Amino acid sequence: MSHVELAPDHILIIEDEPKIARLVTDYLSSSGFSSHHLDHGDDVLPWLEEQDTLPELVLLDLMLPGTDGLTLCREIRQRWPQLAIIMLTAKVEEIDRLLGLELGADDYICKPFSPREVVARIRAVLRRSRATLHQREPGAKNLLVLDEDGWRALADGQDLGLTAVEFQLLRVMMSAPGRIFTREQLMDHMYRDHRIVSERTVDSHVKKLRRKIADIWQEREVIRSVYGVGYKYQPEE
Ligand code: CA
Repeated sequence: MSHVELAPDHILIIEDEPKIARLVTDYLSSSGFSSHHLDHGDDVLPWLEEQDTLPELVLLDLMLPGTDGLTLCREIRQRWPQLAIIMLTAKVEEIDRLLGLELGADDYICKPFSPREVVARIRAVLRRSRATLHQREPGAKNLLVLDEDGWRALADGQDLGLTAVEFQLLRVMMSAPGRIFTREQLMDHMYRDHRIVSERTVDSHVKKLRRKIADIWQEREVIRSVYGVGYKYQPEE
């Protein structure tokens, strides 16, 4: 994981269509952002490796000559997790597929777009990523953070990849650390319509949630089961 600093409001545009790149560059500049433009997929990783200060956000086109946007998104997410990524796609149907791949991009924008929309989305993503940034940095330890807008939970900055139900369960328990919730109470919080009525269902969701946390923290258990009663979130001993 890299310790490189981020340059605030600096955007890396990775786009092979010169017209689009110019349009976005100009609009960003008039909106108070600075940017750098690359038009070939193979140039991206070497360029990032060279930087002393990294762009805060990457605007990444999916279809590129050389290394494609999917590969780049995965590589950037893995090597520079503190960078926000917005992916650009040419087809709206692509977005569903991309979401399914769980690439870890912060947002997706479909072409054609207005530069105004792009800037608005960049601002929204930056607001969100700045709010969770200190937890994403290497060295921030033992922090479990909820990103309410993104329906994500981050353990030491790593996205746990929770389902909506798992996220809700965690949110309920984290709202009152140390408090024991019965399975029924958890169900009440999660399913307003009681679609799922079995207490076993709660157990199986909690089990998956705990496994996801254990993938990141092997030696630390924050969700405890209380025999015969239910569960609680207990970050400290
Ligand atoms: Ca393209």
